[in-house]
Amino acid sequence: MAKTDDTKQTACGCGAYPLSRRNLFGAALALAAAPLLRYAPAQAASVEPSEVAPGIFVHQGRYEVQSPDNRGDIANASFVVGSDGVAVIDTSGSAKMGAELREAIRAVTDKPIKYVINTHMHPDHVLGNAAFSQDEPEFVGHYKLARALGTRKESYLAANKQMLGPEAFEGSEIILPTRLIKEPTKIDLGGRELLLEPQATAHTDNDLIVTDTKTDTLFLGDLLFSVHVPTIDGSIKGWLTLLDEMGKRNAARVVPGHGPKTMELPQALEPEQRYLTAVADDVRRQIAEGKTLSEAAKTAGFSEKDAWKLFGQYHVRNVTAAFAELEWD
Ligand SMILES: [Zn+2]
Repeated sequence: MAKTDDTKQTACGCGAYPLSRRNLFGAALALAAAPLLRYAPAQAASVEPSEVAPGIFVHQGRYEVQSPDNRGDIANASFVVGSDGVAVIDTSGSAKMGAELREAIRAVTDKPIKYVINTHMHPDHVLGNAAFSQDEPEFVGHYKLARALGTRKESYLAANKQMLGPEAFEGSEIILPTRLIKEPTKIDLGGRELLLEPQATAHTDNDLIVTDTKTDTLFLGDLLFSVHVPTIDGSIKGWLTLLDEMGKRNAARVVPGHGPKTMELPQALEPEQRYLTAVADDVRRQIAEGKTLSEAAKTAGFSEKDAWKLFGQYHVRNVTAAFAELEWD
C-alpha cells in the first residue's frame, strides 16, 4: 500500500519524517560523514497490510529484534473495519510504526477508530498506541494489562529507546488501557462483533484472544509464534495447557503475534507445542538429575535450535524462565 502524505523514508531507512530542502541538505551532510554500512537503500512504506478476510487487515512484522532500521516493526499488527468504526489489534513497536499503521487504516476507511486493543503487554505490540491518541479510542486490554504496563513502563521505555535509537523511538510512550477485560466481552463495530477473551497466565499474565465472529478469525497475539522462536514471560505450564485448549477450537484462520499473516488450526500450534514441550521435558529431567540452571541452559531444548529464527537471542532466557517455574513442581 503506497503512502500518500509527505512523510518519506530517509536514505538510511531508520526514520520517517518530512524531508524539507533544509533537512535534505542536513541528511546529505550526515550521509557523507557517517559510516557507509548504516545507509542501506531507502525502503518503501513499511506498513503494508493485506486484507486476509472481508474487512480484516494484517500487517506482518519482521523476524528481527528491535533496531533503528526496523523501527520496532517486529510483530504483526491488524485492524478490523465495521460499518460504525474500526478496531486496531496491536500497534507495532514504536509511535512511528503506529503512525504508519494509522495511515494504512486511513487509506482503507475514514470510519472512526473506536478501539485500540492490545493482545498483551510487550513493547513490540503496544508502543504504537501513542499514534492513536488523537482518535480518542478506548484502549482495551486484559484486566492485568494496566498493572503489568504500569510496573514495567520505565524499563520498557528505556530498553526500547536504547534498541530503536532516539529517532525511531521518538513519540513512543506507554498508554495504559482505559477498558479492562475480565470476562469474555463483545464489542460492536457495526455489522460485526469482536469477542475478547482474557486468558490465564501463558505467554504473559495478560494475554487476550480476540475473535472476529463474522469471519471466524482468531487473533492470538503471542500465544502463537511461528518461525520466530516463542518467548516465555508467563508460565510454560499454563501456556502448554492453553495450547491444548486452543487446538480444540475451530476457526477459519488464526493470526499469530509473530509469523505469517494467517495460519490454520490446529497445525499452526504444533511447532510451538513441540518447542515448549521439549524445553519443559528437558528442564524437568535435568532438575530431577540435580543439574543447575547454568548446566540446563547449555543443553535443554537445543533439539529445537535449527527450527526457529532468533533462537540465539531468546532460547536461554526461556530455559531460565522454565527452570525457575518447574523447580517448584
Ligand atoms: Zn509478546
